[in-house]
Amino acid sequence: MTKIVFIAGLEHSGTTILDVLVGGGTGAVALGEVSSFINSETRGSFLSRFGHFEDAHLCSCGKRHDECLVWSDVVRYISENPTSDLVMRYRKVVESVERNFGTDLMLSDSSKSIGALGTVLEVAQGRPGTEVRILLAVKDVRSFVSSMTQVRKLNVRGQFSCFRWWRGGNAQFLSFLETSGIPYHVVLYEALCLRTRLTIKGIREFLGVKGEDCVDGPQLRHARERAHICAGNADMVFRNRDEIRYDCRWFNQMSINMLYGLSREPRRMNQQFLAEHLQI
Ligand SMILES: [Zn+2]
Repeated sequence: MTKIVFIAGLEHSGTTILDVLVGGGTGAVALGEVSSFINSETRGSFLSRFGHFEDAHLCSCGKRHDECLVWSDVVRYISENPTSDLVMRYRKVVESVERNFGTDLMLSDSSKSIGALGTVLEVAQGRPGTEVRILLAVKDVRSFVSSMTQVRKLNVRGQFSCFRWWRGGNAQFLSFLETSGIPYHVVLYEALCLRTRLTIKGIREFLGVKGEDCVDGPQLRHARERAHICAGNADMVFRNRDEIRYDCRWFNQMSINMLYGLSREPRRMNQQFLAEHLQI
């Protein structure tokens, strides 16, 4: 049975590390943000996020997409069928993975968004024997705002909006997942970093896989050999991923800690995530 593990969540919430973790074991393949890649309208902007150097636009296996084991058939199909919809294209991705790795496997897709999840669910509905499991990646709101501040150069006003954006985004994910009734499992980034083994054990149990089918932190470097992450060269995708480290710079960022005190609803939601997934 083919199992698609869809990694949902806001950006900078640990989705890439989860993709590498889940897709790196034996019987699993990490594919990266499949939906952004197979969508002709978003592919250009998606790839440009990885820089404009040619080697950033390779599959993580080091090959060009038209030469890669997994992606070559998919890019050929898209160029020959430019009007094909996302569901048809996604089906080609699954078929290509099955052809190369067999049908008893788990593929991980870190496309993140609810829209992309809709495509995956439609694909699974039309393919008996395809199962979907969802991991929702969440990061402590203070750490999230700190990451976004670095990436987007946010001022205090921007940071304040970011707190609310985090809450709105996660509330949307939770409400979609609750109403759709699909099994999902929340992975708090802090728990993954600070209680790595326990958190990975929980992920394995949820996915119904044996130990080796979902690699452990120290084995991350082996995951590199198995992945076909659609964008970002291997060095970029796996940079700093040989072990899981937590960036605790936000501890000393006064504006973030002050705004946390002022943002009641985001704080409540954050406390709930911490209580449920880190027991603090
Ligand atoms: Zn590849």
